[in-house]
Amino acid sequence: PPPTLLHPEKWCRGFNHFISQCLIKDFEKRPTVTHLLEHPFIKQVHGKDMSLQKQLAKLIQEQQQLGSVAKTRHERIHTRRPYHVDGADKYSQDDDLVNLEVLDEDTIIHQLQKRYADLQIYTYVGDILIALNPFQNLSIYSPQFSKLYHGMKRSSNPPHIFASADAAYQSMVTFSKDQCIIISGESGAGKTESAHLIVQHLTFLGKANNRALREKILQVNPLVEAFGNACTAINDNSSRFGKYLEMMFTPTGAVMGAKISEYLLEKSRVIKQAVGEKNFHIFYYIYAGLYHQKKLSEYRLPEKKPPRYIDNETGRVMHDIVTKDSYGRQFEAIQHCFRIIGFTDEEVYSVYRILTGILNTGNIEFAAISSQHQTDKSEVPNPEALDNAAALLSIGSEELQEALTSHCVVTRGETIIRTNTVDKAADVRDAMSKALYGRLFSWIVNRINTLLHNTENGMNVGILDIFGFENFARNSFEQLCINIANEQIQFYFNQHIFALEQMEYQNEGIDAATVEYEDNRPLLDMFLQKPMGLLSLLDEESRFPQATDLTLVDKFEDNLRCKYFWRPKGVELSFGIQHYAGKVLYDASAFLEKNRDTLPADIVVVLRTSENKLLQQLFSSPLTKTGTFCNSFAYFATFSVDTMEVMRHPEETTNMKRQTMASYFRYSLMDLLSKMVVGQPHFIRCIKPNDDREALTFSHERVLLQLRYTGILETVKIRQKGYSHRILFEEFVKRYYYLAFKAHESPLGSRENCLTILEKAKLENWILGKTKVFLKYYHIEQLNLFLREVI
Ligand code: ADP
Ligand code: MG
Repeated sequence: PPPTLLHPEKWCRGFNHFISQCLIKDFEKRPTVTHLLEHPFIKQVHGKDMSLQKQLAKLIQEQQQLGSVAKTRHERIHTRRPYHVDGADKYSQDDDLVNLEVLDEDTIIHQLQKRYADLQIYTYVGDILIALNPFQNLSIYSPQFSKLYHGMKRSSNPPHIFASADAAYQSMVTFSKDQCIIISGESGAGKTESAHLIVQHLTFLGKANNRALREKILQVNPLVEAFGNACTAINDNSSRFGKYLEMMFTPTGAVMGAKISEYLLEKSRVIKQAVGEKNFHIFYYIYAGLYHQKKLSEYRLPEKKPPRYIDNETGRVMHDIVTKDSYGRQFEAIQHCFRIIGFTDEEVYSVYRILTGILNTGNIEFAAISSQHQTDKSEVPNPEALDNAAALLSIGSEELQEALTSHCVVTRGETIIRTNTVDKAADVRDAMSKALYGRLFSWIVNRINTLLHNTENGMNVGILDIFGFENFARNSFEQLCINIANEQIQFYFNQHIFALEQMEYQNEGIDAATVEYEDNRPLLDMFLQKPMGLLSLLDEESRFPQATDLTLVDKFEDNLRCKYFWRPKGVELSFGIQHYAGKVLYDASAFLEKNRDTLPADIVVVLRTSENKLLQQLFSSPLTKTGTFCNSFAYFATFSVDTMEVMRHPEETTNMKRQTMASYFRYSLMDLLSKMVVGQPHFIRCIKPNDDREALTFSHERVLLQLRYTGILETVKIRQKGYSHRILFEEFVKRYYYLAFKAHESPLGSRENCLTILEKAKLENWILGKTKVFLKYYHIEQLNLFLREVI
């Protein structure tokens, strides 16, 4: 018979550990590889993983070489480092890199590698969590695990994302303070999955009586991701927008609502995708769903050949849809999400009509009308596509054609109609599709917020899942924006972990070792400074009608004279940036056009006449360029690294050209930052162990690179030597006076009283500064635990 199943608490220590346990327990039975493969746990975790057989064989061999159970046991006990002071038996010093005695890259990476082989994907660096992508499903996320990590001391269990989510939640409840979980890492490192797991655990913790609400919150991510994620060269489910999800709780910690903010949706994907990449998931879902429901004709979509916008690799899409029905099932899942969250049938129908309207719009073609006098006039050679698009968008087909093939110009009070060339008309068509999709996406997000928002006073935990650093074979404007955003997140991390901490040591006259770190501020300045930063230069150039992408790169070269910028010889339109995460070569083609992001007024006018109420609404409110409602963003921020200058958003002007993507991007970044700074931050750093998305494969080189540029080594050092928590005397006494005083007493926030509390709590290694108590990261947990015991 197979060895008996161990309790999950035991096997979550790791795979090798588990196997050793089995071997110890059942050594007499001499388990074989087949024997172990039959074990229910192994089956559950690994399924039919072939590499497992090899691994098991190796393990058994190793164990047998050791000779006997006694020996194995002996080895296990003696090779293991001493247990943590509090004697918790499940805690291993290996769980936290801060416990390393030798601090260098080799030791750290060796540690992570060893843990990864053991399927221990999580490791702490003090209060920061490192998460390695396992590239396989692990069964460590069930409700049983949520229970295991609920309200526990961190050292009671191996590191886990639930422990980090739990810490944020406990901290929110104990101190009535908003929290913010910042997840960073390259594309494909596991940020989005981590964000889901956090939401899952928080929903578990915030058990309200309101089961419906919990259900709704769990549907938010799948719905938003169907519209905002796509398959890229790196990740099949890559987030093409930044997402900040705030979960709202009552003062006692019950979930009461949620709110999402979206940043910088990569709208250009709607009209064009790079080779090997796809459009947003929802387009395939809807096409396949309608195909299987035999409703394509109702939405005027061709059956033989999918619409151009989703037919990047000719024929592939059709093949996928016909052979696999997973897309179709996804469509049903999305319908379910809409329903659960509370969208009305009418709304959902309108959304489908807009989506299929976009697909039909993409099929509209243009041809030049060749007459003697006019060479710049175009017409639509396939009027049925035009009729289809117009029908689905509930607008007049002639009006649509007018708006696509001509435009009004107002000069000196006179309105003149000018015709569009073929290329111009195609650009207008694509601009319309992008605008439709961008505004639709924002509307969905806003609608979710209205349905899930709760205006009662409460606290929240925000979860930031932003698109990760990207370096493709060809990098365009979108990659530049994504990478600048990551640059900003890294800066925030540095500020929080290093700069602020060291500044406080100085101010408070404390002698704590300083740790050198890579400051990316000069680089961020190069991007964001006014008026000579890269984004400002881009905006300036976008204002000149004669400017070209080449003059833009020339301008960059003339003005950005620093070591972070260079221009490779021989390739005119390219420029390079030395990002914190590595060198990236950008291709500046279409930079100006993408930045201008113009949507002709003629198109807006036509779309406003739509009989589809939703569509009308999308284009009737004042909107920013990217389709986000102005009124939900009351402020327009300009950014300089030190200070936030916030000024009132100018009312929508007739000169829409003035709002560029760059200026909107700057604003988004500020908006995001302002949200982040109000909460107490918790950092999760996702690491991609290999580029082949393979389980149990650890590329030394790739991991080292990520550890280096995220400054993990420095982080370990500062967590080891530094004091991550600095609390004002007054605040400290207010929080913890229960530990040393009676409930009815109201002790002064003095140095002496802090001392009394600290001594009473029997903490070690803290320091008192001039105005603040300096604590190590682990003190906070200890204090909170004491506090819970006392209260
Ligand atoms: P990112 O958001 O950082 O680009 P994702 O979260 O989308 O990356 O992760 C990429 C892929 O890696 C996922 O689709 C999934 O297959 C795998 N993955 C990531 N984290 C986990 C995890 N904790 N367990 C199992 N698979 C994971
Ligand atoms: Mg993602």
